[in-house]
This record gives sequence, C-alpha cells and structure tokens, in this order.
Amino acid sequence: MNILALCAHPDDVEFICAGTLLKYREAGHRIFIALATSGNIGSNSMTSREEVARTREREQSAAAAMLGAELKFLRYDDQLLTDTPEVRREILNAVRWADPDVILTNYPGDNSTDHAITGRIVGRVLLSCGSKLIPSDRRMMAEDLGRKRIYRFPQENWMPIAAISVSNELAAQLFQHQQPVHHGDGR
Ligand SMILES: [Zn+2]
Repeated sequence: MNILALCAHPDDVEFICAGTLLKYREAGHRIFIALATSGNIGSNSMTSREEVARTREREQSAAAAMLGAELKFLRYDDQLLTDTPEVRREILNAVRWADPDVILTNYPGDNSTDHAITGRIVGRVLLSCGSKLIPSDRRMMAEDLGRKRIYRFPQENWMPIAAISVSNELAAQLFQHQQPVHHGDGR
C-alpha cells in the first residue's frame, strides 16, 4: 500500500505518527510525506523566515530519509494557511502524487489554523481525486475512493479513539532531527 502523511508543519509527523509510519514501512509499504508549510516562523532564535524554513526542511529531510519516505514541501507560510482554490489544488496534487491507500493528517478541530485548514482540505479534496475535470497538475486517481482510509490526529486536547503502540529505537531517534519550535497560535 501507499501511505501518505499530509500535515501542516515539519515535526507534525515525528511528534504524532512516525512510529506508525515505521510500522507500515517495516511491513513493506511505501511511505510519502507532504507538508503544507515549511514551519517558517517556528523559531524565535533565528532572524528570518528563510533561515527557519531552510533549517526545518533540512531536519525534515533527514527524518524522512530515516523513514525511507518520499518527501514533498508545498511551502506555504506557517500560520497563514488559508483555504483557497490554489491551496486546494496543491493539496490535491500532493494526494494524487502519493496515490495513497491510507492517509494520516491533522485534525480540523485543532486551534492551530494550519492544522485545521490542512485537515479540512485533505478531507474535501478526497472527493475530487477521481474527477478529471478538477484543476490539478497530476493524473486523476481511480474513482474507487472507498478503499482509502483517512486517520486524523489531534495535537491538543487529546482524546484519541484509537492509538498505535510503537516501540522502536529509530522512532526515538527521529525526534532528534526536530528542534523545539515556537508556534504563534498553538501547534
Ligand atoms: Zn504542527
């Protein structure tokens, strides 16, 4: 199967679902990671958004390499993600890029604007993946969307209805590739 983690920020994957992705990879599945933003306001110790983005993309690339994941950055500005036709098109492109059987994404109820918008748009564009008349730069996917599963992970006010038990040394190492970050209005 193809497994896609489509999240708002670098580190969302490592904090929440890297162990799950490792389990999928160890079972022989292909892993894809797409990030709506590069987390470019996620540090108060750096002097520019560009420096933050470069640092966080480098960290994310190292973590993705450890996961054996293919990686795509959409590079929208951190904390400024909005639901526009352009953003929907790029998220649809990312879904079609991975042609996933399973999608892991943010929870639309999170206070973080980026988490909420990312999670909401991923759910919306799934309905469009099989439509050839929807604007996109990628091939349409099979119309059989019933085989796809989508799991959303809240990062605040935790009350999961399901959790995956992971115990993996590599999962612990992945955290070392992500620095503590500052989020302006919550994670
Ligand atoms: Zn986040």
